[in-house]
Amino acid sequence: MASQVDAAELTKSLIQCASVTPDEGGALTLLETLLSEAGFECTRADRGEVSNLFARWGARGANKSFGFNGHTDVVPVGDEAAWSVPPFGAVEKDGMIWGRGATDMKSGVAAFAAAAIEFVQDTPPDGAVILTITGDEEGDAIDGTTALLEHMQKAGERMDVCLVGEPTCPNEMGEMMKIGRRGSMTAWFTVTGVQGHSAYPHRANNPLSAMVRLMDGLASAELDQGTEHFDASTLAVVTIDTGNGATNVIPAQSRACVNIRFNDSHTGASLTAWLEGEAAKVRDAFGVGIDMKVKISGESFITP
Ligand SMILES: [Zn+2]
Repeated sequence: MASQVDAAELTKSLIQCASVTPDEGGALTLLETLLSEAGFECTRADRGEVSNLFARWGARGANKSFGFNGHTDVVPVGDEAAWSVPPFGAVEKDGMIWGRGATDMKSGVAAFAAAAIEFVQDTPPDGAVILTITGDEEGDAIDGTTALLEHMQKAGERMDVCLVGEPTCPNEMGEMMKIGRRGSMTAWFTVTGVQGHSAYPHRANNPLSAMVRLMDGLASAELDQGTEHFDASTLAVVTIDTGNGATNVIPAQSRACVNIRFNDSHTGASLTAWLEGEAAKVRDAFGVGIDMKVKISGESFITP
């Protein structure tokens, strides 16, 4: 008789693991134990500070294989006093389970782990079911899925298709399945002007005037109107830092950072060129120096 797993209870148990990247917090160990007991062959593909779990039911390199991918790590809780529930308490309230990672994506991992176990126990398939679960999605994401893929390649493991259990449904479960991913990039700007006394602004060149113009221009630009499979690309100003403690001093420098999520009408390179152009316009208009650094975390893609 199958010993089936309750996905809601498993979600709670996973939330109770304080798995802030890169600490696995017991979450991967819990899944490893559960899956091993259900007959999955589990391998830890840990790399650096990051823990990753590869679990397979069925034969290695099977002709047919269905894969799941997810992560158990979560972002930091921030100001814990501002939470209405303990972040790792998994409190059940108003028919919902509350906690850090409840949506992104311990519920997804719990749902596919429970479904995979039920499936192989009730209707043992003629093929393999694979789970790849990382602990590095919310961090730099260099020792998570890439480490698992490297492990798979070395060990002769394969997957025909892969379902990623990230939350993609805006309102209701099952509303939307995505067949691609938006690209993501971050740009850091340093604007350098000329420091001076605020009583004599004409003798200074305030980098903040240029920075505010640049950030407003970037944030209010329409990058596109969306594509067949994606919403419109977005740009968010995530920080502007000057750290000026004096009220009568025009500072010499200001820094800011923007994060862009982009669809398949752009590439990291095309957006970098656009940012450079916008920065050059502001630099010329204000006579300041603008230094820009860019990190492209991933390009947009579609898998039809
Ligand atoms: Zn996620």
